[in-house]
Amino acid sequence: MEWTEARVDKLKRLWEDGLSASQIAEHLGDVTRNAVIGKAHRLGLSSRPSPIRRTNHPIVGAPERMCQWPIGNPRDPSFHFCGKPAAPDRPYCDEHCAMAYRRKSDNAA
Ligand SMILES: [Zn+2]
Repeated sequence: MEWTEARVDKLKRLWEDGLSASQIAEHLGDVTRNAVIGKAHRLGLSSRPSPIRRTNHPIVGAPERMCQWPIGNPRDPSFHFCGKPAAPDRPYCDEHCAMAYRRKSDNAA
């Protein structure tokens, strides 16, 4: 198998479309996934952004089904909500439910 210009073009296009190396190998045919990765690396294509985007931003206005327990000082840039899956019919995760109910009973006492 040779990397003809047409195949290289196709590889680039599919790579930029976000296909996995094994999917690209299937499209090109007669080439292994490892060969695709190696070629992409040599073409400088390996630095494409991961399709799974990670974010370090605090969860502001967390979706309803996530724990709404505030962590930190609201005026602090690191302030965020817990964000763990909330317990059924509760605004908080199990851990923070326990804290919330303890806190309420403390206030009542
Ligand atoms: Zn929580």
